[in-house]
Amino acid sequence: MGEFDLIARYFARGAMAANPDAFGVVLGIGDDCAVLAPTPGHHWLVSADMLVEGRHFLSTVSPRRLGHKALAVNLSDLAACGASPRAFFLSLALPRADEAFLAGFSQGLFELADAHGIVLAGGDTTAGPLNINITVMGETPRGQALLRSGARADDDLWVSGTLGDARLALEVFRGTLSLPGHQFDEVRLRMELPEPRVALGRALRGLATSAIDVSDGLAGDLGHVLARSGVGATLRLADLPRSAVLGAMPQDIQQLCLLSGGDDYELVFTAPAEARERVLAAGRESATPVYRVGRIDAQPGLRVVDGAGRLIEQPLQSFDHFKS
Ligand SMILES: [Mg+2]
Repeated sequence: MGEFDLIARYFARGAMAANPDAFGVVLGIGDDCAVLAPTPGHHWLVSADMLVEGRHFLSTVSPRRLGHKALAVNLSDLAACGASPRAFFLSLALPRADEAFLAGFSQGLFELADAHGIVLAGGDTTAGPLNINITVMGETPRGQALLRSGARADDDLWVSGTLGDARLALEVFRGTLSLPGHQFDEVRLRMELPEPRVALGRALRGLATSAIDVSDGLAGDLGHVLARSGVGATLRLADLPRSAVLGAMPQDIQQLCLLSGGDDYELVFTAPAEARERVLAAGRESATPVYRVGRIDAQPGLRVVDGAGRLIEQPLQSFDHFKS
């Protein structure tokens, strides 16, 4: 199967031209360039993420879940900025034109794309080691993008969903932990089928002062917000939302997965204390649970406190279980 057949069969859907339902995409796959039409009074937001086997996904993941995850991690960046998804571009290197892989991958990819009304508007395919590179584009009303730089002292610190399950699953794959089969399936789902918090991000426009998605771990990602905003934070470990599976693990494992576990794709955001009710309403409106987990401080640095409010020394020290 040649490159053009491969694209036609798996990635170009319907007419290789304008899809009248594709908001913002005048011409998609089929010419040298896509033609896009930004909405007047809006800003385009663009983000790219590359996925490499062994680093961003394991060879054990099904093609369908991999297609979902490749787009999900990109949509998560749009979610963190409060953007509405519009178009994406896919560049794919494949060792060979494996039709079973392509059928599953494109199915997972388009199921998620359709759920968010985003259109594949172009890209490239080539032979080579498996490598998935996606660029997403979205829109917000002019000046309403949520940025990392807006957190202010005394803002509340919020987190969506639950944290740490993807890391827990990774540790089971690594053999450092074991879980009963049904519990493993549950956390594995979080690692392989993350749900980008697009609806929440949109509901937080004009409300959150800053936001970021958790891709590398809460402490590290929150650190980017603190650095860009020139503030610090106090995080209440006991208030961090976690699944029943993670909540039943030993404390040190919970702490590691909650603070350093990557691949959660939840949103961490800040908002003024007087906006609490409206933040809770944004959570309900987007059917996304949100939790208040700390506070922004004028004093730089991240402080983690336990349930009694005592400072935890070196909360990110590595644990024996996870020496690597
Ligand atoms: Mg991000």
